[in-house]
Amino acid sequence: MNLEFTPEEQAFRDEVRAFIAENYPKHLADFGMREDMEREDFLAWHKVLGKKGWSVPAWPVEYGGTGWTPTQRYIWSEENARINAVMPLPFGVSMVGPVIYTFGNAEQKAKHLPGIVSGDVWWCQGYSEPGAGSDLASLKTTAVRDGDHYVINGQKTWTTLAQHADWGFFLCRTDPTAKAQEGISFILVDMKTPGVEVKPIKLLDGGYEVNETWLTDVRVPVENLVGQENKGWTYAKFLLAHERSGIAGVARSKRGVEKLREIATHETLDGQPLIKDFDFAKKVSQLEIDLAALEITELRTLAGEQAGKGPGPESSILKIKGTEIQQRLTELTLEAVGTYSAPYMGGVSNDNGSNEHPVGPDYATHAAATYFNMRKTSIYGGSNEIQRNIITKMILGL
Ligand SMILES: Cc1cc2nc3c(=O)[nH]c(=O)nc-3n(C[C@H](O)[C@H](O)[C@H](O)COP(=O)(O)OP(=O)(O)OC[C@H]3O[C@@H](n4cnc5c(N)ncnc54)[C@H](O)[C@@H]3O)c2cc1C
Repeated sequence: MNLEFTPEEQAFRDEVRAFIAENYPKHLADFGMREDMEREDFLAWHKVLGKKGWSVPAWPVEYGGTGWTPTQRYIWSEENARINAVMPLPFGVSMVGPVIYTFGNAEQKAKHLPGIVSGDVWWCQGYSEPGAGSDLASLKTTAVRDGDHYVINGQKTWTTLAQHADWGFFLCRTDPTAKAQEGISFILVDMKTPGVEVKPIKLLDGGYEVNETWLTDVRVPVENLVGQENKGWTYAKFLLAHERSGIAGVARSKRGVEKLREIATHETLDGQPLIKDFDFAKKVSQLEIDLAALEITELRTLAGEQAGKGPGPESSILKIKGTEIQQRLTELTLEAVGTYSAPYMGGVSNDNGSNEHPVGPDYATHAAATYFNMRKTSIYGGSNEIQRNIITKMILGL
């Protein structure tokens, strides 16, 4: 396998780098994903990309995709990660969008795809329930047919950023008598429909990123059913394969390691830069080695995709290793900034009414919040334990 980029790919890199430098919203420079972001912060770059035709690179060209090769898409994500860009959220772009253009009807495509491309419509994912996470097929939310409507009742949980959502895609049980996987339907719900209630779950990092979503006698027109009734499990699994492939986060972690090295050059231990401390430097180097190995695995997957092989169970390896690296990275950053991470979580609205300014260097302000926030990565998108089960079965054949 040739890991060198071709001259055409290098030229493509130059083009996207120049576009990003010119057009990335200045007020979001090196902002990253943060717990104090507003709806407009999340959408600002997405809207610029929507106009350029670059917001949904992986989609088929007929629905607004770019026709880029997997390698071009990789270069694109690397260039965005270099500036820690706020990327379009996955719920529309990588999740419901592909389900709609693959399984939806013409009206659904015409109604929903343009808003995802432009970044005007925000989607949320209503899969998990209090008793149905890893064992998703045991979900209990019901949708009962009443004339030309479904009436939905149930409780979803961990609905990420549903407080901003215009629309949600929900898995509902439409046949309670069928086998668990066979009686589920995939239904689109306008979040302003009476009976939809979004309640915040406050997290350890001080942010408000996830919610409980309660559905009480929510009347949804039957035309919001995607594909066939009771066949939703097929679409749900298709969507999860799309969700998982972007989780490795190699490019962003590379940027994170660079930043960590910078921080460890400024911070000192026993009068010398922290990065010169043997134990600390060893941990950073080990992280870089593991990240380089993960990058090779990701490039191998891309090469396979380019040769026409769909992403297989190796996406589980990318998910486990990628998220472990993200967690170690934020752990080492926390270690590097030391006590500066503790006094104040900057930018997070303080329920206790504190008006204190953050102390210490800027790079310390979000270190603790980010550390706590990244604990989620080994759970969402299919927990790492479940990914190990997949590897055991599909790769090791046990
Ligand atoms: C920050 C965050 C955001 C999320 N956003 C969304 C969202 O927007 N929409 C949505 O629908 N869901 C969302 N989720 C839910 C997420 O998909 C679930 O948390 C996940 O599927 C795990 O389910 P659970 O939390 O019910 O844990 P459980 O399924 O109860 O699992 C608990 C533990 O047991 C382990 N375990 C369970 N079964 C097995 C097994 N067979 N073998 C080995 N180990 C096992 C799990 O790996 C886990 O460690 C989000 C979760 C988080 C943390």
